[in-house]
Amino acid sequence: MQVTQDKKRYPLLNHYRYTFHKLKEKSGGGALAVCAGDVMLSVLLPFLEAALAGAVAACLVSGRRPGEILALVAGYIVLLQVVRFLQSHFRELRTKALFLFRCSFSELDRKTLYMDGQSLESAQGQKKRQAAMRNIYSGNEQGLEAFAAGFLNMMIQFAGLLIYGTIVGRYSLLLLALLLLQAVVTAWLHTLAGKKEYRLEEENIKGYQGLGYLRQESIAPGNGKDIRLYRMERWFLREFKERIDQIVNRVDRGRNGFAAAQIGGMALAFARNVFVYGWLIREMALGHLALPVFLLYVGIVAGVEAWMSGLFDAAQEIYRNKEMMDDFRDFLEFGDSEEGTALMQQPGRGHEIRLEHVSFCYEGKEEATIHDLTLTIRAGERLALVGPNGAGKTTLIKLLCGLYRPTAGTVFLDGQDLKTLSQRDVFREFAVVFQDVFAFSFPLAENVSCVEAGQEDTGRLRDSLEKAGLWEKVSSLPKGVQTAMNRDLDEEGVSLSGGEMQKLMLARALYKDAPVVILDEPTAALDPIAESEMYERYDAMIREKTGIFISHRLSSTRFCDRILFLENGRIVEEGSHDALMEKGGSYAKLFTLQARYYQKKREEEEIYA
Ligand code: ADP
Repeated sequence: MQVTQDKKRYPLLNHYRYTFHKLKEKSGGGALAVCAGDVMLSVLLPFLEAALAGAVAACLVSGRRPGEILALVAGYIVLLQVVRFLQSHFRELRTKALFLFRCSFSELDRKTLYMDGQSLESAQGQKKRQAAMRNIYSGNEQGLEAFAAGFLNMMIQFAGLLIYGTIVGRYSLLLLALLLLQAVVTAWLHTLAGKKEYRLEEENIKGYQGLGYLRQESIAPGNGKDIRLYRMERWFLREFKERIDQIVNRVDRGRNGFAAAQIGGMALAFARNVFVYGWLIREMALGHLALPVFLLYVGIVAGVEAWMSGLFDAAQEIYRNKEMMDDFRDFLEFGDSEEGTALMQQPGRGHEIRLEHVSFCYEGKEEATIHDLTLTIRAGERLALVGPNGAGKTTLIKLLCGLYRPTAGTVFLDGQDLKTLSQRDVFREFAVVFQDVFAFSFPLAENVSCVEAGQEDTGRLRDSLEKAGLWEKVSSLPKGVQTAMNRDLDEEGVSLSGGEMQKLMLARALYKDAPVVILDEPTAALDPIAESEMYERYDAMIREKTGIFISHRLSSTRFCDRILFLENGRIVEEGSHDALMEKGGSYAKLFTLQARYYQKKREEEEIYA
């Protein structure tokens, strides 16, 4: 999987500005103070520890009285303990602050819910979102939390190295250069291993997606019967195993790279220690170093080693997590923003919608689904979109209510270009009921009103449910409108039948009371006569609003002012039902054919009844 192909990359400092700005925004200045305290104490503590042996030796050779020496050493040890306690306490606070920071990071969910659906639906959008999720949901060792910790660790290691490097450098620049060289080579080995691991992790994303899909399908309530009856268990298990094996293999290869880098680094560290400690012992033997200074240097040299490996570990940590931060912020900037000019309201009326030379082509498809379509839907008009399945009716609906952006041409809402308008304003104006009906596992009232519990207008709720023909059913439910849908979140939840679900969606559209109402065959489960009756009931209910009715059954929409007969994304015929029948074209032929077919079906049903 190549998420990185067209990914936006950010300078490291920009990521840090963003991260710590967000940390302050979500956790307040206290979190920043805790981080700063941790940095200071983490630099001070190792220095006090490294200097202990030298300080004791210096006291011993200073010629002071034993009591005085004892008091000084005891004082030093108490100071050390206090700093040790504070450092561990601040580290704990820092860890907690960064963890809570990650937990409260809701930007990803916000973005997913608010971004335009077309971008989110696209293959690129899906890939980018999947990659961005790793930044937040990979635990505290990877992603946002580790990236923030990496910066703090880097500051600690850098400050420590600067202090220790200055001490060593003042004694011998050659010694310092040697230590630095060894650390650079070790870091380079680790960087290579890190790059390899990240590449393998990216390849694993597809595997995780596949596993997620299989898990979801294997527990989906509707699938169980087919899985068992058709003995698909073994097939599922084989698919699971194949994917898990591939993932494990990649993880293994990634870790092997690190193991090799570690062995290389340890060999280099061994050679360096032989040389450096040999040198210091020789210097002391020659009388160039006094014992306390020798002891201080032994501690400092060991410290330089620790600071440097820590520095490169931190750099490694930052490098690894920067990729995830890039993925994350790239997704946050992907797609269209919902911001835009406010829609100029025309209270109490349906809107006029105009399409000018609109074409639309789905991502990855060669042929356009909508071809150079020019059309004006007048405010308050009843428009029918009819035509065979796959003609492009749903696609057209998504274009005119702003869910999709045209590939070419422009859609205007009351004369304003849709793409310049605030998406929130545009969506508020449409109540669309699509074919694929579903309810969230929340109470029925929330599913219809789409507002938090207790905020709904109860009168309007009842009215919508009554008009949609669902009130009787709702009244029979144990908790009425507060009954939860399904059992995901509430054990007493109920499942509605397909037809009832459609009514629920229709009630939601009525409750919204938007100026443009669109019914995109939510009545597919009903027979043609019931669909036709329901459409006509809706026509009466929506009064002065603009109404668009879609069906592949031509009898359902004959009441409309104007009928557009769509075929292959083009309007092939247009006019009222009577005019189109008189014309005797495709519409008239299909209408007659369907009428005969439905008549025959009806007769059959009557015989069986
Ligand atoms: P209708 O509503 O008239 O049945 P649609 O607008 O649903 O037609 O579909 C028109 C064409 O676009 C069909 O060929 C369908 O396969 C294709 N199509 C619909 N949705 C997508 C999608 N998300 N990605 C790719 N092609 C799509």
